[in-house]
Parts: sequence; C-alpha cells; structure tokens
Amino acid sequence: MNTITERLEALRTEIRAERISYGEIAELQGLADHIDLSDVELLEWAGVPEFHEDDEDTRCWECRKAAAAAAVDEA
Ligand SMILES: [Zn+2]
Repeated sequence: MNTITERLEALRTEIRAERISYGEIAELQGLADHIDLSDVELLEWAGVPEFHEDDEDTRCWECRKAAAAAAVDEA
C-alpha cells in the first residue's frame, strides 16, 4: 500500500538526503493540499506561501488554517 502520507514521508527522506529531484518537487507541489499545516518543512518545499499576494489566492498557510478552523466550527 502506498498512501499519500507514506509518499510524503518518502519525499521528506529525499529532501533530507539532499537528493530530491525536480520531478519529485513537482509531485510534492501536487500533494500540497495533503501536507499538515504544522509541517513547515514540507510546506516550504511544496512552495506553499505563508501569506498570499492577492485575495484570489487562498492556498497560503493563513487561508488554509482559517478554512480548517471554520470546518471545525461547523462540525
Ligand atoms: Zn491566503
């Protein structure tokens, strides 16, 4: 079984060994929505910004935290 979490950990291993490829970085970017918000190491490598440049972009850490908090409030 190869879950997304296992794949993220495999990519982290490549990062720490300083042998991650451009293809793997692109893969990490594609998995960005699955990275835990406390996981700064992978978020930075996936190119997820801490704050957004314009209101149309809601992929940054702050927007994702706000969305997660709103989801908890609704539950
Ligand atoms: Zn944002």
